[in-house]
Amino acid sequence: MVGYDVVVIGAGFAGLAAARELVKHGHEVLVLEGRDRVGGRSSTASLAGVPVDLGGTFVGPTQDAVLALATELGCPTEPTYSEGANLIRWRGKVRSYRGTIPRLGLLRLVDIARIQWQVERLGRNVDITKPWASPSAKKLDGTTLGGWLHSVGAGASSRDLLAVMSRVTWGAEPDQVSMLHAVRYVKAAGGLDRMLDVVGGAQQDHFPGGTQQIAEAMAAELGDRVRLNAIATRIEWSDDAVAVTSSAGVVEARRVIVAIPPAHRLNIDVAPPPPIGYQQLAQSWPQGALSKAYAAYPRPFWRDKGLSGQALSDVGPVFITFDVSPGDDGPGILLGFADSRGFDALDAEERRKRALACFSALFGPDAENPIDYLDHCWGAETFAPGGPTAAVPPGAWTEFGHLLREPVGPLHWAGTETADEWTGFLDGAVRSGRRAAAEVVAALRN
Ligand SMILES: Cc1cc2nc3c(=O)[nH]c(=O)nc-3n(C[C@H](O)[C@H](O)[C@H](O)COP(=O)(O)OP(=O)(O)OC[C@H]3O[C@@H](n4cnc5c(N)ncnc54)[C@H](O)[C@@H]3O)c2cc1C
Repeated sequence: MVGYDVVVIGAGFAGLAAARELVKHGHEVLVLEGRDRVGGRSSTASLAGVPVDLGGTFVGPTQDAVLALATELGCPTEPTYSEGANLIRWRGKVRSYRGTIPRLGLLRLVDIARIQWQVERLGRNVDITKPWASPSAKKLDGTTLGGWLHSVGAGASSRDLLAVMSRVTWGAEPDQVSMLHAVRYVKAAGGLDRMLDVVGGAQQDHFPGGTQQIAEAMAAELGDRVRLNAIATRIEWSDDAVAVTSSAGVVEARRVIVAIPPAHRLNIDVAPPPPIGYQQLAQSWPQGALSKAYAAYPRPFWRDKGLSGQALSDVGPVFITFDVSPGDDGPGILLGFADSRGFDALDAEERRKRALACFSALFGPDAENPIDYLDHCWGAETFAPGGPTAAVPPGAWTEFGHLLREPVGPLHWAGTETADEWTGFLDGAVRSGRRAAAEVVAALRN
């Protein structure tokens, strides 16, 4: 056994950001990562020779933690292509529009604006740090986003658009997500426009080299402090020491940071068991499931037709698209978010066929024959499955939310789900890692 100051479980953005801070403070750190790579829900693959992100992709204004980190590590961003018209395939027709909200007729637009206003007004009374203590907590946590939409008489188009938002944000349906969670999440992102927009919002920029390079750069700095293929299975703890068992052996430390999604905490035995509520919290914070399909073409041909490559569809499996091509002259790359239901269970050929059918219904027959294709189903991962983030059901925040990141002796909790700003995003992951590192630095000083 080897003694460290801190063991960090998980080499996603949260765990690596935590380890980096701890090293800066002079601590001996070891990061245990169960996969054979770093990055977690950030994973960059190659399509027609172009880096493409299977998980976390976009960044935008006010995501200052991840943006500063990327700059520091020499990973530049570029704007997401958004010139020209967007498309919407809705109720059997394909139409074009500009901006975030599609042209769906005046009455529908008024209804969507009303719903947006109401969601944000509810947010005024929700405390992001302690949502369970908000005056409206019980009421909001007693219903789902879907139930709330029904209760305020949202029209069919508003409900369908918010279902699209729910799928892409949590990988879940509006009927699965607590309204308190939804309102808090939107507020933590700075509002619906900030969360959903391209220009001025969370999809404004992406990394030509992919997001995983940021994790790899952090891991390179940490060197042999990062151990891959090390699945943590048990933590034994006393007031001032931990012993962490992983598939790479047992290590001892003074503190541990568990930087994995709450649902995955269930896979680690903790002895003695944490106080009542921690196990229930992990059971109540399930990961959603979202998939992505990418197709590459010789050129971004849709740009020639004045199209931005951004589209919404009420027919799946692909329900949102973006253009992430490296430029005008290189290959054209379409990114489609796919509904995991009815996609993940298909065989590879059928997934490709269905995704390309969606691309061609939107962008025309040129989309039928890509030069390369790739998809990824996060809900079907065998280790640490799910994403983009937790789809928290009713009751969970008010029952167990106060335990989400409350340390247990020398155990500290990180991961984007525990962040107060940009919860669920890369930025929230970095912030959560730094917050947990600060807790540990303070604890080790005493
Ligand atoms: C399809 C998709 C699209 C997304 N799009 C965006 C986007 O555009 N912009 C954005 O900001 N965010 C996006 N996200 C979310 C973003 O990727 C996550 O918020 C972020 O990567 C979470 O980082 P994390 O460190 O908190 O957790 P993770 O990345 O999940 O890291 C946890 C790590 O712990 C490891 N682990 C788990 N259990 C154990 C164990 N027992 N032992 C050892 N290791 C363990 C896992 O393998 C993983 O590497 C997206 C995610 C997905 C899936």
